[in-house]
Amino acid sequence: MSQKMLKFVTLEKQMPTKRSADSRREDFNEIYGEFVTEGAAEQAARCSQCGIPYCQIHCPVQNNIPDWLMLTANGRLEEAYEVSQSTNNFPEICGRICPQDRLCEGACVIEKGFESVTIGAVEKYITDTAWEKGWVKPTVPVRELDQSIGIIGAGPGGLAAADELRKKGYQVHVYDRYDRIGGLMIYGIPSFKLEKEVVERRAQLLRDSGVTFHLNFEVGRDATLTELRQKHDGIIIATGVYKSRDIALAGSDTAGIVPALDFLTASNRKGLGDNVPEFEDGTLNAAGKNVVVIGGGDTAMDCVRTAVRQGATSVKCLYRRDRKNMPGSLREVGNAEEEGVDFVWLSAPKAFLGDDKVTAVKAVNMHLGIADSTGRQVPVEIEGSDHDIPCDLAIKALGFDAEDIPKLFGEPGLEVSRWGTILVNFATGMTSLEGVYAVGDIVRGASLVVWAIRDGRDVSQALHTFLTNKRAADDVAQAS
Ligand code: FAD
Ligand code: SF4
Ligand code: SF4
Repeated sequence: MSQKMLKFVTLEKQMPTKRSADSRREDFNEIYGEFVTEGAAEQAARCSQCGIPYCQIHCPVQNNIPDWLMLTANGRLEEAYEVSQSTNNFPEICGRICPQDRLCEGACVIEKGFESVTIGAVEKYITDTAWEKGWVKPTVPVRELDQSIGIIGAGPGGLAAADELRKKGYQVHVYDRYDRIGGLMIYGIPSFKLEKEVVERRAQLLRDSGVTFHLNFEVGRDATLTELRQKHDGIIIATGVYKSRDIALAGSDTAGIVPALDFLTASNRKGLGDNVPEFEDGTLNAAGKNVVVIGGGDTAMDCVRTAVRQGATSVKCLYRRDRKNMPGSLREVGNAEEEGVDFVWLSAPKAFLGDDKVTAVKAVNMHLGIADSTGRQVPVEIEGSDHDIPCDLAIKALGFDAEDIPKLFGEPGLEVSRWGTILVNFATGMTSLEGVYAVGDIVRGASLVVWAIRDGRDVSQALHTFLTNKRAADDVAQAS
């Protein structure tokens, strides 16, 4: 089978089949099906093979997109997989959950007149096929090294670094306070975006590659950073950001008001078959309730769509700006609307009402005023527009901040920014402590899986250079 490229002129953009909203509301399975082989090849052939591929420039891991699209169009899938996996440790995960409209596809040059190439869906198709065909194999390093690396955090940043360092032959140990591998990919992101088996098979592959996991191991409780530094030749901190932002409103301590991550984690745990008392007793369960989610980011989108699937009576999303100015992906807003979520734009909460339990959110209408120094229009309250929205479960999805890592780790020498994120030298990736590196959300603040992967890849190379130089210096010292 051979496909000519540049088919965008005659062939429309097509995504893999999307399940109907009615069927999606019934379960937590992913909403898109898989391309059939012909469909993937045809869609890949829409690419115009740009000399300067803006899609690649706007992909955080700089995927060689035109090449794997061309190989897919020509039925050379195993080679497409080889090219794709050479720049991305988890291509099938990014293909599912990257906000492509803000990254690769948003930059695709045919987007303006013809709609972009379906880059993410093809990337997912290539690696899902590779798994099916048995092309994805555990790492066997060319040679084993004596040096060991301790990685704190088994989210995408820590796992990408573990994968890269294992390929170089290091003895890699990953510590995580959770009982499962995957960080927010397992307990934050709902399975209708990323089914858990997709994360679990990656975790198993890393185990099969010789990475050692120490689960239920909390650094700060079970060991200090100093103790880990004594044990390992290099350390990578990949702990993410978990402190939920809050709003101080009247009635905030009323029962029935919960942080977004508690709600999503309970739902994910339930889906994984765990016993979750707060789900069973209704505290973190939307079934039969009028739900109000406060916030306009991707976490808020995940909460509203989870509440729909749990059988909520009604689901409203309150956001103080308008649709055009919301931070969440517009594709996800569209999916939520199809599933029956009611977006209340230009609306902000003022108080939570209710005695023993929340019964309503007092909200106020907003309009967008003059732009501030960042260029964003500031939402301004419209006087006298107060109104009550019935609510039995209010979910706060207002973003996340870093925990106090130097205090938690018993390491005051670890320098952090004024937001609590760990400071790194951007040339070397090293923190203020020699041989200690940091990646992902704990450096960037709440970000994306693909950026955590990029950091994990960059830092593993930097750590490798550092340890190679150290080995060479030790050899010279021993010889003299
Ligand atoms: P994390 O994934 O947060 O992993 C950190 C790990 O460190 C965790 O497993 C944690 O248990 C462990 N840890 C923390 N402290 C300690 C300690 N003291 N000792 C041991 N272990 C510790 N991104 C996307 O690209 N697409 C999406 O669709 C998307 N949806 C999201 C939905 C939600 C609800 C949320 C909250 C985030 C979403 N993100 C999404 C963002 C994405 O999940 C994160 O940017 C990414 O997971 C960050 O990776 P990380 O490795 O830095 O940290
Ligand atoms: Fe696009 Fe993300 Fe894949 Fe890069 S990793 S090509 S941004 S979907
Ligand atoms: Fe192909 Fe679009 Fe990338 Fe150009 S920008 S190489 S058309 S995917």
